[in-house]
Amino acid sequence: MERFVYPPKSLWASLCRRPLQDDPQVRARVESILSRVRSEGDAALRALSIEIDRRDVDLEVTEEALSAAAQQVSAAVKDAIAAAAANIRAFHQAQLPREIRVETAPGVCCIQRPVPIGRVGLYIPGGSAPLFSTVLMLAIPAAIAGCGEVILCSPAGPSGEIAPEVLYAAQYCGIRRIFRVGGAQAIAAMAYGTESIPQVDKIFGPGNRYVTTAKQLLSTHTVAIDMPAGPSEVMVIADDAASPAFVAADLLSQAEHGADSQVMLACLSEAFAERVQEEVRRQQRALPRTQQVDGALSHSCAVVLHDLDEAVAFAETYAPEHLILALQDPWPVADRITAAGSVFVGPWSPESAGDYASGTNHTLPTSRWARAFSGVNVDSFLRKMTLQEITPAGLQRLAPTILSMARAEGLDAHAQAVAVRLEAAATAAEESDEARRIRALMRPNIRALAPYSTARDECSGTPEVFLDANESPYSTGWNRYPDPRQRILKQKISAVKGVPVQNIFLGNGSDEAIDLVYRVFCEPGRDEALIVSPSYGMYTVAAETNDIRVRPVPLGDGYSLPSAAIAAATGPFTKLLFICSPNNPTGNAFPQEELAAVIRAFPGITVVDEAYADFSAKGSLLPRLAEFPRLVILQTLSKAYGLAGLRLGMAFADAQIIRTFDQVKYPYNINQPAQELALAALDHPATEHIAEILAEREALARVLTGLPFVQKVYPSDANFLLVKVDDPKAVYDYLLESGIIVRDRSRVRQCEGALRITIGTPAENRRLIASLQSYSQTAKQ
Ligand code: PMP
Repeated sequence: MERFVYPPKSLWASLCRRPLQDDPQVRARVESILSRVRSEGDAALRALSIEIDRRDVDLEVTEEALSAAAQQVSAAVKDAIAAAAANIRAFHQAQLPREIRVETAPGVCCIQRPVPIGRVGLYIPGGSAPLFSTVLMLAIPAAIAGCGEVILCSPAGPSGEIAPEVLYAAQYCGIRRIFRVGGAQAIAAMAYGTESIPQVDKIFGPGNRYVTTAKQLLSTHTVAIDMPAGPSEVMVIADDAASPAFVAADLLSQAEHGADSQVMLACLSEAFAERVQEEVRRQQRALPRTQQVDGALSHSCAVVLHDLDEAVAFAETYAPEHLILALQDPWPVADRITAAGSVFVGPWSPESAGDYASGTNHTLPTSRWARAFSGVNVDSFLRKMTLQEITPAGLQRLAPTILSMARAEGLDAHAQAVAVRLEAAATAAEESDEARRIRALMRPNIRALAPYSTARDECSGTPEVFLDANESPYSTGWNRYPDPRQRILKQKISAVKGVPVQNIFLGNGSDEAIDLVYRVFCEPGRDEALIVSPSYGMYTVAAETNDIRVRPVPLGDGYSLPSAAIAAATGPFTKLLFICSPNNPTGNAFPQEELAAVIRAFPGITVVDEAYADFSAKGSLLPRLAEFPRLVILQTLSKAYGLAGLRLGMAFADAQIIRTFDQVKYPYNINQPAQELALAALDHPATEHIAEILAEREALARVLTGLPFVQKVYPSDANFLLVKVDDPKAVYDYLLESGIIVRDRSRVRQCEGALRITIGTPAENRRLIASLQSYSQTAKQ
């Protein structure tokens, strides 16, 4: 290991040079192997095995051979494989990319879809060490990506069999087809396919010079490969505080890979370099792979640099496969590194951890390729395919851009392909644009659902004996499943609300509809919802349980609708906007025209929750539903109708949205008694109770305003009052002591100090007032 002290920059390029690899003899030999395998298939593989290894082996590993191998692997190694695989799986699972769907312009939907590579071949070298860890590093991401067919080739050892650990690890990762073939011929077999070995689309894995030359040659015309490969390498950047023993051990762990490996030390003093080199000599004596270590060290070097800035610059020039930062304060350096396969940060992160078990992949770019390539990861097993769907109106809008670019490039046929569609597009554009827009907002899996129907929907006759649904034939009044479409109840609601049946969804409370909007429109882990806050807690709860990100948009001054902030918070993945009007817990309803403007401007689905609209003079948006195709209005029988115990909520929306909700919900979400009781209740509008509640609300507000500890009674459009008091906890406790429970909202942002009090019956309200008055007496004393 040669030492260079403060080498001038002009020398860096030669210091960073890798041991020479290109050998015309190797290339000629590989070329001849490739052409033999291509023309003779299995026969060539057999002949080469006899020529090179002096033995004939069966190509494919049988089930029996796999079981025999599993028995030869020790329990300790099996446990280690399981533990390492769990970490590798966890890290790679998180890399799985999601489909990206962007409406680049109205009616122009562009999609990027990750698609697994269909057939992949893994190569595991034989040689001096059975690299079963590489099996995990390749097979686990392949499985996570969802590659259809994964095969593995590895040369048989002197016993005539592949190392049992390699066979066991392959089985453990679910690989079913394993072939005993190594070297350039294995790569050729996977690239061209033979009678026994299936042809693959991409080949992964390390190998000797023959293997890497074969991969390189074939990658220009026949098969894709993971990355250009050369001998393994490590660079350690160490400061004087680093442990020379740790650094020497890390250098040697790389050196033992092979005589062509290279290890580099970049440090800040000659004395430290000397200490490391001494340690290397000491530790080296105890290591068995002398030939590899000596070979590697002969073309490795220790470089002393002036400072960490120079060390970073040197590392970037070298672009190492592995970079270890043995530094007291490693992150400022780590954050400046851009060209390395994998970086090991701090003294407790040896390369060996990443080689085997921490979770990162160990198949990494060498020979300065880290400047341009990533190590193997889940993406390596995927392709990204793009799709696009343009609506007639979208094409109309895009046409001028396409036409002028195509004409300017002189590609008239390109222009023509748009021009011929323009007239028809204009006609088609009108009616269909909004429907397509709504569909595009839905999750792909939801869009693909087949319509739901029962045997009773599908039968053409009029059955009298019902033996289709495994119900009890004995009548209890409830022995039959309820109507999953709630036809009669929906007709009744349609009449009461003046909304067509196809625009009505019924849920087990509005809470079910809140959950459904997320499930229909939001891709977990990617899409987000805006919630005008503070508001009803279920919007957030349902988002969290569905793994949807929430962005609260705070109410404006005086609890006003924050229209500008909503627009500013809307991003490409914002699918939903929740507005509660009248709002819980602030009690105010927003002016209809402000709501209308926000709904029109919001590109996704706006949910306006009108649970309390029956108590508001500002009215409902329901009569204007048809104006807003991307609006979902929620109402409930829980409040004004006095049926909270029944659990019946309603969503009103565009027919396509309602059809989808009905497809996604559980079929019998509204039970039979609830359907019947709701039907009866809807005959009696709750007008009297509503009027009484409104009168009580005004009376209660007046009394509360007069109490000395009440700071503010907020104006209310709902059946509750938000009341700001001096000591909310004391008032709450006092009321509870006298048998009255109210809602403490004093810790909610923008509601500090406030209690939310539901309007009760006149008697209940009198009791509340009496308690508050006596509290006021106690508070005075
Ligand atoms: N929306 C709002 C704003 C609410 O405050 C509530 C319950 N307090 C609900 C919906 C729940 O309605 P349901 O009983 O229909 O689930």
